[in-house]
Amino acid sequence: MKYISTRGQAPVLSFEEAMLTGLARDGGLYVPEQVPTMSSADIAALAGMPYEEVAFRVMKPFIGESFSESELREIITRAYAGFGHAARAPLVQLAPNHFLLELFHGPTLAFKDFAMQLIGQLFQVALERRGERVTIVGATSGDTGSAAIEAFRGLDAVDVFILFPHGRVSEVQRRQMTTPAEANVHALALDGHFDDCQARLKDMFNDFAFRDSVGLAGVNSINWARVLAQVVYYFTAATALGAPHRPVSFTVPTGNFGDIFAGYIARRMGLPIAQLVIATNQNDILHRALETGGYVTTGVTPSISPSMDIQVSSNFERALFDAYGRDGAAVVQLMEELKGQGGFRISQGALETLRETFASGRASEAETSATIARLFSETGEILCPHSAVGVKVAEEHVGSAPMVTLATAHPAKFPDAVEAATGIRPPLPNRMADLYERPERVENVANDLTALEDLIRERRAI
Ligand SMILES: *Cc1c(COP(=O)(O)O)cnc(C)c1O
Repeated sequence: MKYISTRGQAPVLSFEEAMLTGLARDGGLYVPEQVPTMSSADIAALAGMPYEEVAFRVMKPFIGESFSESELREIITRAYAGFGHAARAPLVQLAPNHFLLELFHGPTLAFKDFAMQLIGQLFQVALERRGERVTIVGATSGDTGSAAIEAFRGLDAVDVFILFPHGRVSEVQRRQMTTPAEANVHALALDGHFDDCQARLKDMFNDFAFRDSVGLAGVNSINWARVLAQVVYYFTAATALGAPHRPVSFTVPTGNFGDIFAGYIARRMGLPIAQLVIATNQNDILHRALETGGYVTTGVTPSISPSMDIQVSSNFERALFDAYGRDGAAVVQLMEELKGQGGFRISQGALETLRETFASGRASEAETSATIARLFSETGEILCPHSAVGVKVAEEHVGSAPMVTLATAHPAKFPDAVEAATGIRPPLPNRMADLYERPERVENVANDLTALEDLIRERRAI
């Protein structure tokens, strides 16, 4: 299995190389040259299997020879052993034909653990075999960073640096990043928004001298291995609800387009997905882009679902690449317009393709809070604000196929918003109840590339 860049100018890589590289050297994102498909019988056989077995069968064709079968099985087992639920991704019913896929039973209580725990184990095995060390730098709006730190803490082949927007992540998110005591963990509070963190990260990747001197590796949602890990739960959920014998729909709370792109890959593999619905909060660039054809940045307005407060949706580039018939030059052109003019128009043909593939909706702040309150009174289910954005948009799209809304975080990760809506302050699960007592360790940094690069050079282990 080979991986190519969405901008068409970077070397073709294996799964392992694409994973260790993250962002392609031409600024693009790696995608599989061809998406492997599963037959209806192979999909039907997944029903009722343990999560780990489904993960193995779904991911193996994408990984090719990079990891042996037994290596991959062991990696998957280790990745999900720390989850607080035996099903890993359990389904709960909310209403007739509407289900919630709980993706928040991992060690940091958000769906990012599914990908990050796996990628931590994949990195460790690959780097040990190569006798190499890397410096992982990630930008986070809150959940990616905590998931990355949790996945890489204490692994000897890796230093992990996480940039988060100072004062703009929840206390639980911050503490999950600042309390691990391992020397290879570095939490950096950047003076700026998430988009600033993401922009500085991209700058570091484009500074090839720096990139090569520290062995820079990326685990943001642009990393193909993360997308792949997220494909798996579309299969477990859909087969539990009758796929492939009947189609199933999904609604996905989205910011960076990673999780929903995984759903798109599941569909390309042959999983019968009726609707694939993008749910945005008030930072609704993706919803507007599908409605109007204009992908136009307007600046971020902080919301109660902060992990979706994003204007430049990195993974959308992968969807554009396919919608433009895999024309890397067209993608380069769009990304230049985005950089220079803050937006671009999607061509009519590509827009039609995107509209055939995705539906979309948005939830305002008031609608999000009202959804948390209403679902609590109707079902007893306490939603985090991101999941509530999804539920609100999903309700507008429930049809004849079962609708599955992805619940992306545990409500205890966003207790203020949940308490304001329901009057109940959701407690942390027992296994992390002492989070508020652990000492914190963090460095404040300016929104300045040179200062950041100096600091990373200085702090990493070698
Ligand atoms: C990261 C995150 C999202 C957005 O996911 P993307 O796939 O990056 O768009 C939604 N909800 C929560 C809780 C998250 O942590």
